[in-house]
Amino acid sequence: MQLEGTVFDRAKALFLHYAEPLQLDAKYPGMALPQRLTIPDKSITVRLTLQKDNGTVEVFDAYRVQFNDDLGPYKGGLRFHPQVSLDEVKALAFWMYLKTAVVSIPFGGAKGGIAVDYKALSLAEKERLTKKFAIVLANDIGADTDIPAPDVNTGPREMAWMSHAWRMARGKYERAMITGKPLDNGGSLGRTEATGYGCAITLLEAARDKGVDPNGARYAVQGFGNAGQYAALEMSRHGSRLIAVCDSRAAIGNPEGLDVEALIRHKEQTGCVADFPGSKPIDPPEVLTADCEFLIPAALEDAITKEISPDVKAKVISEAANGPMTQEAMEILFKKGTVVVPDILANAGGVTVSYFEWVQNRQEYYWTHEVVMERLTKRLVDSYRRIYERAQAEKTSLRQAAYEGAIERVVRIALERGTQ
Ligand code: GLU
Repeated sequence: MQLEGTVFDRAKALFLHYAEPLQLDAKYPGMALPQRLTIPDKSITVRLTLQKDNGTVEVFDAYRVQFNDDLGPYKGGLRFHPQVSLDEVKALAFWMYLKTAVVSIPFGGAKGGIAVDYKALSLAEKERLTKKFAIVLANDIGADTDIPAPDVNTGPREMAWMSHAWRMARGKYERAMITGKPLDNGGSLGRTEATGYGCAITLLEAARDKGVDPNGARYAVQGFGNAGQYAALEMSRHGSRLIAVCDSRAAIGNPEGLDVEALIRHKEQTGCVADFPGSKPIDPPEVLTADCEFLIPAALEDAITKEISPDVKAKVISEAANGPMTQEAMEILFKKGTVVVPDILANAGGVTVSYFEWVQNRQEYYWTHEVVMERLTKRLVDSYRRIYERAQAEKTSLRQAAYEGAIERVVRIALERGTQ
């Protein structure tokens, strides 16, 4: 397997590695399936020009990769971060394609982003830049074509801005053109917490199978944005103790456990986890190697490397982030017996409730929080169980089993729709 190269090269190599047991070329000779499944349908690169508050102009690269729409309209979030590149967006779009297949929702895969230090912009600059992006993409996105959503550094506020700009550009209302909107703008109850909640729910299932009682167990969270925060809230609700956590600026710990609700308030007020009362500063890598039962990587790609994985002590890892460990790290952890709930299942709660939001928008009929959470939980637990059974039967990892199930589904649909 290719271990070097860009994040997309490696994502592709991993996919082909997991597809090997399915013998696609032997079963469907001459159908070029490996290529058809790993090359994006369309990659859009645009230049965004922003006039800053001080009158100067800055230019940013922005992207939308529409990976595959065999299973339904393209679907995936928008990430505003300096690290965003076409290559990264391709990898993230590829994972969306597999993720929607894992949880059986009728969408294809896409992802977008702007390479910008978004946090450094003023509120007015943020709004101008986001709306510009929506206008530039206006003809490429829509409820039946491609439906964006939040991702790193974007949330309901950005989705409302995008939806307003799209409406101005296209001259019509179409709530379902974007998901993750604020509630009074057509958002769904449960969408904000869905990714983190889903990560915790699948982690708890895996913990049960591994025989680890969550009540009193210790856990660490790397990345304290939306996904990390809601995953922590759910874990604490099940009696687990958060003993180490970091965000992009600082890392803190307390072996007795940190009060998650108070920490979220502290982060809202100060913008950072640093100086949280009752915590001690620690080195960020110590979050990954903390002495604990569960680990939730909830930041960016490639956080868990081959260098650090031998020191990872957690028994169960649930990937709230997309692609948070390298392939070598995956192998080291698998050999050690660490259970890893893979990203394409662990963080699929977000896109699942995005799907629910899209359904509610199309019907203009809104569900209660209870109904959303019940349907979300059932879908994730059913997907987890299916993957777990397969992994047990084939004596393989949850990731291998999740990929195989997703690949079977995308192959079936690719063949059904014909090749012309
Ligand atoms: N950005 C999220 C993800 O990576 C959510 C995507 C969506 O809701 O469409 O899964």
